Amino acid sequence: MSKIDGRTIMFARMSYEKGSKEYEDYYKNYPEHESIDDQIRLKPHINSEGTATFNNINSPFADAGFMMLSDFQKYVNGPVKKEKTNIKDVDMTSKLKKFCSYLGAVDIGVTKMKPEFFYSFIGRPLKDYGKKVDNNHKYGLVIAVEMDKNMINRAPQLEEMFAVTKGYVDSAIIALWMTYYIKMLGYDARAHIDGNYEVIVPLVAQNAGIGEIGRNGLVISRKYGQRIRMSVVTTDMPLIADEPSDFGVKKFCKLCNKCSKTCPAKAISSEPPIIENGVERWRIKQESCYEIWRSLGTDCGICLATCPFSQGLDLDKLEQIKHSDEMILKLLKEHEEKYGIRNYIREPLNILK
Ligand code: SF4
Ligand code: SF4
Repeated sequence: MSKIDGRTIMFARMSYEKGSKEYEDYYKNYPEHESIDDQIRLKPHINSEGTATFNNINSPFADAGFMMLSDFQKYVNGPVKKEKTNIKDVDMTSKLKKFCSYLGAVDIGVTKMKPEFFYSFIGRPLKDYGKKVDNNHKYGLVIAVEMDKNMINRAPQLEEMFAVTKGYVDSAIIALWMTYYIKMLGYDARAHIDGNYEVIVPLVAQNAGIGEIGRNGLVISRKYGQRIRMSVVTTDMPLIADEPSDFGVKKFCKLCNKCSKTCPAKAISSEPPIIENGVERWRIKQESCYEIWRSLGTDCGICLATCPFSQGLDLDKLEQIKHSDEMILKLLKEHEEKYGIRNYIREPLNILK
């Protein structure tokens, strides 16, 4: 199975400044991206003056969160590991999950890492540009935190961006704490947090049973839909892997299609899924998605707010009807009667007033 090159991810691409060695190297390898990327570079930055949602008092709140996250990056490898403590895989798996839950995670999963879960090369942070990913950790611990529904339903306004930032920060803190803890027990570990990933989080999360990847490329969890953010810890500590979950997302997405209708960038396919490496999936147009973020000023989030799973679906009912197109369409109709095409709240929250 082929690996994804981390240098091709939009945030990495946008960090290559014209004239820099990274810029020259990247567009030599991927000339097809140069023209669209240069066009996007002309737009204002996310959260900056000139974008639709910019507010000189409120917008820096998200910037501050991301600046802090960027400072966290120096801790992803944790301290030097201590002498190995004898552990039992079953007990440690349960212990790690309990600790993560105590620290605020709403879902925690473990998976055995596969080669295709790792990027081939690093794109960001810029100082690591072009480094080959050399991570042999056998297990991935996925830590999911919830993003507040009232905030997310205001997408693409600033509230959505705040909820996303908080999700990244909360999950990063738990991942860093677990990395330090695992290393204190004498095993190797590495946190994968915003801006510093060696792993493709949705693939790891799907295999760890957190949820299933939907039409828009985000993981849909059972309880919170797409209102989750995740960090990952990879480790050589022996753990017990969870089973991937299957609650019928692929079939549901084929019939739903709501996110492709509400996406302002037309970045989400309305077509049937493609088969890639033997797996059914949809690919979003990441350039179109990111370009609209640079106009809106936030990371949009309309698709994840639109997703019926994010608003709460009757999962027991879905379990009973997941093989019937007719019944799923009926469930979708009921959802639409309640929320319309999406559950949008225009009125700003007190936090912004
Ligand atoms: S975040 Fe917005 S622009 Fe991007 S895919 Fe979702 S709806 Fe479309
Ligand atoms: S909105 Fe519908 S099609 Fe899009 S990810 Fe959610 S369930 Fe799938």
